[in-house]
Amino acid sequence: MTPRYAFDATHALRGSLLRKLLPCRRIILLSDFDGTLAPIRPTPAEARMPARTRKLLYLLSNHPSITVGIVTGRSLPDIRRKVGKSHMLLVANHGFEIFFDRLSWVHPWAERAVPLLRQLALRLRKQLRPFSGVLVENKRYTLSVHYRSVPKRDVRRMREVVLDFLLPFWKDFRITEGKKVVELRPNVPWDKGTAIQRVLTLLKREKHGCVIYIGDDTTDEDAFETLRGGGITVVVGRKKQSRAAYWVRDPAEVWEFLAALAITLAERSKP
Ligand SMILES: [Mg+2]
Repeated sequence: MTPRYAFDATHALRGSLLRKLLPCRRIILLSDFDGTLAPIRPTPAEARMPARTRKLLYLLSNHPSITVGIVTGRSLPDIRRKVGKSHMLLVANHGFEIFFDRLSWVHPWAERAVPLLRQLALRLRKQLRPFSGVLVENKRYTLSVHYRSVPKRDVRRMREVVLDFLLPFWKDFRITEGKKVVELRPNVPWDKGTAIQRVLTLLKREKHGCVIYIGDDTTDEDAFETLRGGGITVVVGRKKQSRAAYWVRDPAEVWEFLAALAITLAERSKP
């Protein structure tokens, strides 16, 4: 499926937003963080939401008929620091952790993986010492090897070392790759898509008609698939193949999309 550009001359997205959101009593807006709300930086620590995006998300999360959530591969403490104090729902570690108000949930398999992941992170860091710019991040329930800052000439060799080290653990862990990152997570059928289903159940919202999801990476495709036919799905970056219905260029256009949503909500609440 090829997504449709959200801001084309027909304003297809605005029309679709109005049509789909008018009958909704409650709207659930879910968004990925890196590359979606925050532009990608050389290291994950440097990534920040632009002030206007942060402001608009806070505004939306305080609207009585909308629940705003961030769905990310980052760990829960990490995404909490990035988002700041808010009413937002947080789905961290690719869905293995969910936090909202007083509700806190961790996938039981993820808890079992903690000791081995800690060990693997230490050993992998040692193996990768010869490479500059590589970052092994132990996120408690998953592990990420970021290599955006590794010199181009070293990337191939570095990836070989990482995969050679991780492959013997393929029964317990799944290896996935995203934008300049290799990730390891418990080998259970669990991803951003299944995590979203879990969120909708927790929020007692099983019908997907009023769910919006925005994301930019391969892991977000699972969420698009879950919401196909029901929710409003937006991929960031032009892609020939995506399960999302719409696409926008970059995080700046994600802000435009959120602004369109805020305007739609205002129109909807007119008497
Ligand atoms: Mg992303």
